[in-house]
Amino acid sequence: MIDLLKHELAKTIRIYNSKGWSPATSTNYSFKLAPEDKDIHISKSGIDKANFTSEDFMEVDENGNPINFSIHLKPSAETGIHCQIYKLFPSTTCILHSHSVYPVLWSLEHKELVFEGFEIQKGFEGVMSHQEKVVIPVVENSQDMAFFENWMKENGEKINFHCFVIKGHGTYAWGKNFFEAKRHLETLDYLCELKWKSNKA
Ligand SMILES: [Zn+2]
Repeated sequence: MIDLLKHELAKTIRIYNSKGWSPATSTNYSFKLAPEDKDIHISKSGIDKANFTSEDFMEVDENGNPINFSIHLKPSAETGIHCQIYKLFPSTTCILHSHSVYPVLWSLEHKELVFEGFEIQKGFEGVMSHQEKVVIPVVENSQDMAFFENWMKENGEKINFHCFVIKGHGTYAWGKNFFEAKRHLETLDYLCELKWKSNKA
């Protein structure tokens, strides 16, 4: 199962790269085999996502410390964000991060992204109708992982659609499995592109 999951996730990472979602070795991805697991499989730092393979994951513990530590292995610089998402949303087993352009463009001008009236909103788990209002929080960017950990702890009740956007940076989305995480990331990206293009038309 783990080999298949790594293979599927690596393939998706390469596809996202081809869409321009992870330029210049950016972005990071992780999964757990079961929600109750402590070990996290996360993408190594500095890998060109065009060539990402199932060998490019490494294991860290629930606090982001590498397991089987080697000086050649460094987890993503944003590992702390993954650890906090797993802690706050315990049914999560997969987290995807994107630097795609449209959420970043929106994040520059808004403290939250509001969507209403789009069929694709139903891509978010729990949303049953295009008439529901979907509000995605935007957080300031920082190089300090503790900043994000605190923000998530303090704003957990505002994170209702399994994703958030970092201003001028990108998107985090997650799910109870890989398929659901992928659906959430792609739903948010599509909504941002749709709204940006309709507003600018
Ligand atoms: Zn990033």
